[in-house]
Amino acid sequence: MSEEEAYEFVKNTLRDEGIVPYHGQELEVVKSVEQCMNCGLCLNHCPVVRAVGVDRFSGPRGIAVELSRSPPEYWSTADTIYLCTGCGTCREVCPKNVDIPSVVILMRARIFKRRSDLVPKSLLQLSATLTKYGLAFTPWEDEEDKAESRDARLERHGLPHIEDRIKPGAEVLYYPGCQAEERSQEIREAAKLILDYFGIDFTLPTEMSCCGLPAKLIGDEETARSLASRLTEQVRSLKVRAVITTCAGCTSRILEIAEEENWGVPVYHMVEFLAERVGIDRLGAEFSKGASEGGITVTVHDPCHLIRHVSRLVMDSALEILGAIPDVELADSGVADSCCGGGGLVGYHAADVSSLVTARNIEAITRRDPDRVVAPCPLCTSQIENELYRHGSGIEVDDLTVYIAKHLPLRR
Ligand code: SF4
Ligand code: SF4
Repeated sequence: MSEEEAYEFVKNTLRDEGIVPYHGQELEVVKSVEQCMNCGLCLNHCPVVRAVGVDRFSGPRGIAVELSRSPPEYWSTADTIYLCTGCGTCREVCPKNVDIPSVVILMRARIFKRRSDLVPKSLLQLSATLTKYGLAFTPWEDEEDKAESRDARLERHGLPHIEDRIKPGAEVLYYPGCQAEERSQEIREAAKLILDYFGIDFTLPTEMSCCGLPAKLIGDEETARSLASRLTEQVRSLKVRAVITTCAGCTSRILEIAEEENWGVPVYHMVEFLAERVGIDRLGAEFSKGASEGGITVTVHDPCHLIRHVSRLVMDSALEILGAIPDVELADSGVADSCCGGGGLVGYHAADVSSLVTARNIEAITRRDPDRVVAPCPLCTSQIENELYRHGSGIEVDDLTVYIAKHLPLRR
């Protein structure tokens, strides 16, 4: 009997009992959990456990234990499985390389498929939005309103507007992601300005659709797959030779898709691309011609999706670029590597948990009291900005792409 026939045989046998056996990649995840030796190291490092305690969130070890129970019991985890931010800290510290973030994705997918009544309502709504519009947000009804909002945001940041560029055959596809496309439009505009300034032959997508990370986090595998196909189609039809994003989550998800779909095209976060392609010396030379803020301290937030799901080297590029801006003094945040609480879609259905996780960052940032916080991710930027504001802090927050554009001598 072939492996596939054996799988079908077992599947049919167990169907009546409501059990779906693991298959393919899932088995790898399960095998990783079997390595757990109950040391508890992950518990001590989990930002959600630290923020809300084990009574509310059983933590990574608890999730691993739940998975080892008989398969129909997944739904017993529904009250905690949606509180994981997916930060990846547990996987990083685990001496046995247990891959808890993948376990969480697996369990959410199984619950979504078989007991969608247990998925938080806000996540089901988000899934419906993703299916309907191919975006994580309901798009603007009126293009003029969208343009007005964009212009107001550009004005606040002192940045000019240049026309969108759709150019099949361009070297680079700049992929903005849902947040920069529909909400924080200044990031999308800043990326265009930077690429244009350095003469990079770029194009925007002909049709913007989500990278699928939110669908994956909800457990909606079908929508995640469909969005991955749409993006793959864009990359292939535009015939680009590289893809750049400005969002940490998009970077990690698009890297996965590029590998799964054999794009044969490198995927970069903007800071990596700039450091490699333009170079720190040239960036520094151009910054020195731009406006100076006259000596300020800047703290950098490290997005989990970059440092733990892509590579810590991306943040080296971010620091090098910031170091090349005249009069900017980098100040240690005091909570390097600390999750901002905005991941895993936790804020969608448990905003209190999300805020409690961010509280650690806010406390450290306000103690250091820098002039500005920057983050190379629209979602981290917005989470930290909102929480600082809620705590009455006047510290400015910028997305790093916007901050870079602000220091170039652009024609305004
Ligand atoms: S991924 Fe982060 S939030 Fe989730 S269990 Fe691991 S350490 Fe906790
Ligand atoms: S750190 Fe790894 S081995 Fe230790 S309890 Fe957590 S998952 Fe298990």
